Amino acid sequence: MNHYKLLTPGPLTTTDTVKQEMLFDHCTWDDDYKKITQEIRAKLLTLAGVSDKDYTAVLMQGSGTFGVESVLTSVIGGEDKLLIVSNGAYGERMGDIAEHASISRLIYKQAYDKVPDPEVIGMLLEENPDITHVSMVHSETTSGILNDIAAVAGVVKKAGKTFIVDAMSSFGGVDIPVGELGIDFLISSANKCIQGVPGFSFIIANREKLMESKGKARSLSLDLYDQWETMEKDGKWRFTSPTHVVLAFARALEEMEAEGGIEARNRRYTDNNRLLIRRMKAMGISPYIGEEYQGPIITTFFYPENHSFTFSEMYEYIKERGYAIYPGKVTEAETFRIGNIGEIYEEDINKLCDILGEFLQTKEKRAV
Ligand SMILES: *Cc1c(COP(=O)(O)O)cnc(C)c1O
Repeated sequence: MNHYKLLTPGPLTTTDTVKQEMLFDHCTWDDDYKKITQEIRAKLLTLAGVSDKDYTAVLMQGSGTFGVESVLTSVIGGEDKLLIVSNGAYGERMGDIAEHASISRLIYKQAYDKVPDPEVIGMLLEENPDITHVSMVHSETTSGILNDIAAVAGVVKKAGKTFIVDAMSSFGGVDIPVGELGIDFLISSANKCIQGVPGFSFIIANREKLMESKGKARSLSLDLYDQWETMEKDGKWRFTSPTHVVLAFARALEEMEAEGGIEARNRRYTDNNRLLIRRMKAMGISPYIGEEYQGPIITTFFYPENHSFTFSEMYEYIKERGYAIYPGKVTEAETFRIGNIGEIYEEDINKLCDILGEFLQTKEKRAV
């Protein structure tokens, strides 16, 4: 099989050195391994800009959704009510999780190409004093929009509610001052901006709020408090941990530090993103999200006008030449997506745009 680089937002293209870490079958109970877990947890707190006194990090087996489901089903009690702020498929997924777990909820739905309005959220909180928790997505990977969590945090904190943020595709790629904003639970996963491989999610949790959640979990394997309690003792995971993924993630964190941390990663992703949009526009392909709210992680594009090809034709052409792109996910328009996170540089973006340009030319010729 021909290898290709992923222009998808997780799993994404990782370095060879991250992949090489997975060639060792590590034991799970010895001190070396527990130490790796503890180091990962400490580094995650540093990246979140919070202290071990106020916050704690919990690693949870499974993909990112398992982490979101773990938080929603563990910290929202039977008497509590959740306000879900949604402007994309991942916000809607929180609604699905709440429905499956019979969590009492209210959903504020915004259009996919608009950021949620903090004033509306303030009003909803005033009108519904029974709401105890508010959850939202930071980088909506559905569209590539970057929601203003700082503005929403202001409203949520003023109202004294618990704030849950799905920062799956932004944590590590966009600086999030978790403590300053008063985010109580932030969820991300191994295979996004930290550039590890898939296999676990992680939660940055406000200690006090986590303590309050003891005994509330609706699920055994996703019980956040229980997972934390075991891990906090000495770094032991509650059930079998994804050892290879953990080793790869530890390496990915080291490489991230060597690159220059979140700031350097944000710069690289932003440069990739700007170059991508500039070159796509030159080919008559425009982004779905307005410049003001476009995030640096992934971009949704409209097809060029009067195009006569399918996504899979374009996908196959590009894949044969070394890159995998992503289909669109917004509901009301025909679009496709290009992610630019992972081990991806401007050189890759230029190559991709050259390939796409060639593809469009062959299509035009045939049309004539
Ligand atoms: C990737 C992602 C998730 C989790 O998806 P999984 O497929 O379960 O890893 C959740 N929210 C957002 C915004 C994401 O980008």
